[in-house]
Amino acid sequence: MTVQVVDETLFHSLDPVLLRGSACASCGAHVFPAMGSCPMCTGTDVADVALPAEGRVWSWTTQHFEPKPPFRTDSFAPFSIGYVDLGPVIVEGWLVGRTQWTIGEPVRLVLAHAWTEGDASIHTFAFESAGAAR
Ligand SMILES: [Zn+2]
Repeated sequence: MTVQVVDETLFHSLDPVLLRGSACASCGAHVFPAMGSCPMCTGTDVADVALPAEGRVWSWTTQHFEPKPPFRTDSFAPFSIGYVDLGPVIVEGWLVGRTQWTIGEPVRLVLAHAWTEGDASIHTFAFESAGAAR
């Protein structure tokens, strides 16, 4: 089975896995996914940056029913979605490995299997626990 990612433009690199955001030279705002202009000051002096791979849970929820398409999965199980504070920017993503989280606990970026398509395993970015909250 080959591993593919859901959208390569989301990633700065896959090994190590790092998200591709953009940073504004005028106001310093960081955004994810990367954009060609700044949503804060409308400046166009923006550059792609690799976002930090570790952050803290800013908020989260667990979904107990299967979402409608375009959500895809091989077999549904309750899953968590969270906002993760990476420092320069807060990113929304899957929280994998369990369905109970604590605001402020450390998490790290990973690639996670999302669904199977033919002989390909489609992966997307997610965050897993990086240890106990400090
Ligand atoms: Zn800006």
